Amino acid sequence: MSLIKNSILNIKPYMAGKPIEETKRELGLKEVIKLASNENPLGASPKALQAIRKNVSGINRYPDSQGFYLKRKIAQYLKVQSSNVVLGNGSDEIIDIIIKTFVEEDENIITADTTFLEYEIISQVNNRKVITVPLRYFKYDLEGIKRKINKKTKLIFISNPNNPTGTYVTKFELEDFMVDLPRDLILVLDEAYDTFIDVDDFPKSLQYLSGQNKNIIVLKTFSKAYGLAGLRIGYAIASSDFASYMERVRQPFNVNLLAQVAATAALDDRDFLRKTRKVILQGRNYLYEALNKLGIAYVPSVANFILIDVGKDSVGLFRDMLKYGVIVRDMKQYGLKNFIRVTIGTRKENERFIKVLKKVL
Ligand code: PMP
Repeated sequence: MSLIKNSILNIKPYMAGKPIEETKRELGLKEVIKLASNENPLGASPKALQAIRKNVSGINRYPDSQGFYLKRKIAQYLKVQSSNVVLGNGSDEIIDIIIKTFVEEDENIITADTTFLEYEIISQVNNRKVITVPLRYFKYDLEGIKRKINKKTKLIFISNPNNPTGTYVTKFELEDFMVDLPRDLILVLDEAYDTFIDVDDFPKSLQYLSGQNKNIIVLKTFSKAYGLAGLRIGYAIASSDFASYMERVRQPFNVNLLAQVAATAALDDRDFLRKTRKVILQGRNYLYEALNKLGIAYVPSVANFILIDVGKDSVGLFRDMLKYGVIVRDMKQYGLKNFIRVTIGTRKENERFIKVLKKVL
């Protein structure tokens, strides 16, 4: 008999993007760029950095367990109440809190088969059954998901835009999907990449919270647009009823003091957000053009990354690019053997990526 729980034995661990320092050390390289984890290429919000410097000597104290100031700032920013906000140690943690709060042992969770891996991994860690539905043309198949809903379905996770494809569910598609959704089921809309959206038909999900179907939870993060991935801070917006139960499940000091002050300051940093958006949108167009010229197929994206069909084993390609100091993400773990996902970087980084891609192809 194994000492390890059965549910844990079979989990395939999450493979994070390769860190820059590790790559430098292993390959003896001086200049390495990382385009593998959808981080902000401009660094962190300067206002956040200033807040960290100002508060760093306070870390002998526990952080505010209620996250009062940050919740208030988020509430003002999104025009909701503080009681609608639940803070997490990254939105990763919020996913865990949601499953622990709502899903009974014999209930199941539905998501796509090619989406953010943590929905499935965290469900498995909690020993909850996950039903995955294949994407259609790289998009969430909402009709397919609906067909899989059964009496035991409690949660549906939708990454919108979807990581790793960069595609999105439109307002029309989502509203159509929600029309006859069972009332005893919760829909989680993970909007980690919402800042980079440049289309008109993306759903305004927070409006649904006050509508007929209140069983919606929206996830956001400070890891991408605000450049705070290393601090670990994300949040959920939900009905105050749902939020109050999620508050019971989270650990009392889950969001550290520096993350709280940095995120509060970052929300005021409109200038940084504007610059980030501009760099990503311009970078996206640059990469599209360069890939078009090379005749390389990709999936058009509304996020800060692009899924690229490299037409051969992407693990080998990842290793080849690494030798030239460019870290991308092979998509083997996502079941897309011939694809890589590249995070949009600065102009210089994007140019270097294209140069190296040409070389290794
Ligand atoms: N949701 C999606 C769709 C993501 O891609 C990511 C980050 N890879 C997360 C959530 C987790 O973000 P955080 O850093 O806030 O835990």
